[in-house]
Amino acid sequence: MTTTTDLVSYEDALASYDPVMGLEVHVELGTATKMFCGCSTALGADPNTQTCPVCLGLPGALPVVNATGVESAIKIGLALNCEIAEWCRFARKNYFYPDMPKNFQTSQYDEPIAFNGYLDVQMEDGEVFRVEIERAHMEEDTGKSTHVGGATGRIHGASHSLLDYNRAGIPLIEIVTKPITGAGERAPEVARAYVRELRELIRALGVSEARMEMGQMRCDVNLSLMPKGADKFGTRSETKNVNSLRSVERAARFEIQRHAAVLSSGGTIVQETRHFHEDTGSTIS
Ligand SMILES: [Zn+2]
Repeated sequence: MTTTTDLVSYEDALASYDPVMGLEVHVELGTATKMFCGCSTALGADPNTQTCPVCLGLPGALPVVNATGVESAIKIGLALNCEIAEWCRFARKNYFYPDMPKNFQTSQYDEPIAFNGYLDVQMEDGEVFRVEIERAHMEEDTGKSTHVGGATGRIHGASHSLLDYNRAGIPLIEIVTKPITGAGERAPEVARAYVRELRELIRALGVSEARMEMGQMRCDVNLSLMPKGADKFGTRSETKNVNSLRSVERAARFEIQRHAAVLSSGGTIVQETRHFHEDTGSTIS
């Protein structure tokens, strides 16, 4: 299933539209144990050897929060100039997905541990751009599916799937920006500089190695365009799980060109999640 995506040149896109970005970064914390149980988080173990009734979501299991996980979340919040909640709670985010054994993810909804911050990011030419932070909240990772028997490793065409719950329950911090406006043609550069700065900060705090190539840190890039002079945001697309600095910049740039092509031909943007292809530098639905 290959479809050609029409693009307009980057310069033409920016001549007519202002980009609005939102960046959601997931960071896997480097705690020794999972967020709500004592299972090890060490990488490389045999599948399903680091699980227990809590992280498998068995009935009656009692989760106990990881104190180091909470401290790490507060450190990140303070480093991002956030307010820290005096108290907060977890929420169930219900959805059915086979690599999530409980059928809900324990996350935070309307009471995140950290909120209303900012990070000043320095671009390569020295210019500083302030990225405002909406929130940083605690949650847990899912397990991992491996699709077997197909040509691509994706679920389509696979004969069966294998599930490994060693990763289920590993602590994650999700850091969400407020809409980033006013960056204009530099928006993709700002996205890259922000993720780079955030990675360095996380490492300096000692809360995670934040190795993007290992999936310890990944970025969802939300992007929309509005006609120059407008003040109402357009419909956004969300490019999920982008896992290198260069790809963050390329994904934002590609989406600007794609959105501009759709909008300037009279079309409408579909709100959807998209997948970034490293080899072509493009996104697909
Ligand atoms: Zn466990």
